[in-house]
Amino acid sequence: MLGGSSLLSVSRCRMTEVPAIDMSAVPDGKKLVRSPSGLRMLPENGAFFSPFSLEEPRWVPDRECARCMQCDTKFDFIRRKHHCRRCGRCFCDKCCSKKVALPRMCFVDPVRQCSECSLVSQKEAEFYDKQLKVLLGGGTFVVTLGTSEKCETMTCRLSNNHRYLFLDGESHFEVELSRISSMQILIEGSSPGETDIHTYTSLLDSQLICEAGTGRPSGMLLHYKPMSSQDVQQLRVEAADDKKEASTWLMAMHKAAKLLYEARDQ
Ligand SMILES: [Zn+2]
Ligand SMILES: [Zn+2]
Repeated sequence: MLGGSSLLSVSRCRMTEVPAIDMSAVPDGKKLVRSPSGLRMLPENGAFFSPFSLEEPRWVPDRECARCMQCDTKFDFIRRKHHCRRCGRCFCDKCCSKKVALPRMCFVDPVRQCSECSLVSQKEAEFYDKQLKVLLGGGTFVVTLGTSEKCETMTCRLSNNHRYLFLDGESHFEVELSRISSMQILIEGSSPGETDIHTYTSLLDSQLICEAGTGRPSGMLLHYKPMSSQDVQQLRVEAADDKKEASTWLMAMHKAAKLLYEARDQ
């Protein structure tokens, strides 16, 4: 590093009290980290992790696994053991041969997973390929804050780092996903409290709307704590003119809630 630029980073460090790093070498505040499981692209700042992300599992220690945890094959010099990158359990090559994308653990390339985990990861790939794009694209809703009579037509979309719902109309506000305590998807023709409404009390349920098959989602009721407040706020969004777009967005949000819950639960 040249004298000038190192001086610059020192003075920057003093002003903001962050460790001196060459920010130009860090595209979008992300860094490549090599873990035993593979190469990962992580946010520079730990606070910027996607709320859907999962931590890497602890690997079952070699001394604790003499046999494949699926087919019971005994390991030796020929039959080597492999760890599943998603669950950390130990398998033979045959039972852990699939390499599947695992964006929730920020792996750059597909990684080795057991058959059980690879099925889950393949399903999640659909969320990343389709629903996540729908959420980032946004939908138009009639938004009511709290129990107020006033409502406003706003675009509701997920932020690029997945951490906020941005609501934009004449006013703007945001909901941090980590501060959502409950989420209800409202079904067309029903009102809150009826049995065919899918409630995420503390995001605990993970049932899919389509399984119930009682009409398309038309709105969402959220309870969350606004930033720097401990009081729970209610937010209600209802489909505006484009009911189809809104319903697709709400279905995607429903799926996101499931991932959110799993990430919190780990
Ligand atoms: Zn096996
Ligand atoms: Zn596994």
